[in-house]
Amino acid sequence: MNIFDKQKCCVCSKGLQILLMRFSSYCKKCHQSVCMSCSTNRIKLYSIPNEMVQDFDKPQRVCDNCYKDYLYYQDLITKYNLQWNTKSLFFNILLGEKKRKIKIQQPLELNEKQNIEKDILTGRSDAHLLNYSIREFVTQCQQGQTLQQIRSSIIRVLELFIVHHPTIGYCQGMSFIATICLCLSDEEGAFHIMNHLFSVIIPFRFFSSSSGASLIGYQAEINFIKEMILVNDFQEKTKLVKFVELQGPQFLLTLMIQVLNISSLLVTWKEMFKIKSFIPIDKAVLYTLKTAVIKNVDLMSSKPLNILGKFVYYTNLIEIFQNENIYFTKFERIIYIEQFYSKTSRSWVSNDSNILNKLKNISNFEVDEIASLQIEFKKNCLDQKIVQINQQQRQSIKQLAQLTDSSDEEDDEYRQQLIIQQFKLQKYGINFETFIYYMDIFQQKEISDSPLDQEQFKLVFNLFDENKSELLDFREFLICLSILLRGSFAEKFKMFFTAHTSTVLQFYEFQALLSLLIPQQIQITQEYKQFLQRIKRSQFNYFDMLNVLKDPFLIKIEDLKQQQKQQIQKLNTYNRFING
Ligand SMILES: [Zn+2]
Ligand SMILES: [Zn+2]
Repeated sequence: MNIFDKQKCCVCSKGLQILLMRFSSYCKKCHQSVCMSCSTNRIKLYSIPNEMVQDFDKPQRVCDNCYKDYLYYQDLITKYNLQWNTKSLFFNILLGEKKRKIKIQQPLELNEKQNIEKDILTGRSDAHLLNYSIREFVTQCQQGQTLQQIRSSIIRVLELFIVHHPTIGYCQGMSFIATICLCLSDEEGAFHIMNHLFSVIIPFRFFSSSSGASLIGYQAEINFIKEMILVNDFQEKTKLVKFVELQGPQFLLTLMIQVLNISSLLVTWKEMFKIKSFIPIDKAVLYTLKTAVIKNVDLMSSKPLNILGKFVYYTNLIEIFQNENIYFTKFERIIYIEQFYSKTSRSWVSNDSNILNKLKNISNFEVDEIASLQIEFKKNCLDQKIVQINQQQRQSIKQLAQLTDSSDEEDDEYRQQLIIQQFKLQKYGINFETFIYYMDIFQQKEISDSPLDQEQFKLVFNLFDENKSELLDFREFLICLSILLRGSFAEKFKMFFTAHTSTVLQFYEFQALLSLLIPQQIQITQEYKQFLQRIKRSQFNYFDMLNVLKDPFLIKIEDLKQQQKQQIQKLNTYNRFING
């Protein structure tokens, strides 16, 4: 057995002969091998477990990279008094002087509450799961707190967040985001930071609740990053593209928490709060990947994320953020994302069995019904020729972008909007007129309740038009149809409630919504009037709406409908529509 291992110093890349099992040749923080002259500093480490540290009371030798990272966050900790769950001035750096008053809304649905608690109480958000740098920062901020205090504050912030964003819901990566936020502020402030992240910075399309393509916006972002790797001068392009496909969620959905070290992460977050945009994350991802290739990081290793961001220094990121058009322009980014939507929209009309089955799973239609609907749909599609972007055109988009990013801003904005609109129109779909045409037919054939008017249909149309292109692609159309024709009362009601632009409805608006979906002959009954009296309140938010749906009166109506529905033969109905 060879007891020597040939390795390189992680700072200066000098070749090293490392005696295996002797920890002194490694940085105690990032666990990379380092030479003596690149590791002259010693710092106090906090995060447990760390198998390379025997005595946590003694300062430990770290590499120069980790030392720079350390100096950056020590400075912040002192300057802004960063401590777990404590008010800090760092909050103002991110959000300014914000009025901090949270209106507590309804309590959380029980199953959401259980989901969150299950994750946090089993330790899924504990600091030692974070990367070598972030866990040091987090653990240092958490000093003096018990594990129980830490976990319950994370739970409270997440619950508060979900209560205010019922349509987003809880997913696992969120607990890491909450953890970082709790190092920067108290619970209330952490809630506000998360709130801002999810309502202003992370593109709303990431959380589109539309079934069958719930992460389509995020995939569009991944696709954009892949395109940028190909367009820009990156080495090992194919390898990187593959890597992004595999590891994408870890970059984007957790906002680089698992990748960057803490100094680079905080610099990136500060920038995205400053310009209120996701762009800094995209830039940080691209820069990290580029650096990783140059530094020969093994992307196929078992834990690539832990070392991927190690060579990224916050000073370099600051420089990149200052250079507005590095890697891509804002305009270019929009174009590529729109292009992704149009490409995807085309796939939904394919009669490939995978696609058909996927559509079956997200709707209340059978495969053969979907296939005949596809044919019908294609007849009325606005078929713009899809523009494939080739290398030469890529160049011209870049030139165009540079050109339009120039002097006369108003004029340029207008021209850019026109071009963006052209790309949006490449979506393979039907416009509002065709949508109304179909809806008229369906209303005559299937919807026996009070018909919807033009304005209500416009609301529905806009709700399903994922990228606001004034076109619905086949998937969007199918789900819409599925809910309108065969959805339960609850599904329909939720759909219309969310379609409204405001999150709170006045009583008369709420009543109007009900009258849309409840058959006229029932609306004149005494029972209906009693029901309205029972639910009456001045305003309805999302949770009030959910409560109303539990009213015995509505449940009874739903049961009645189900019985009626069983009498209708599915396929027959369908063919009747197709054959006029
Ligand atoms: Zn060295
Ligand atoms: Zn190190």
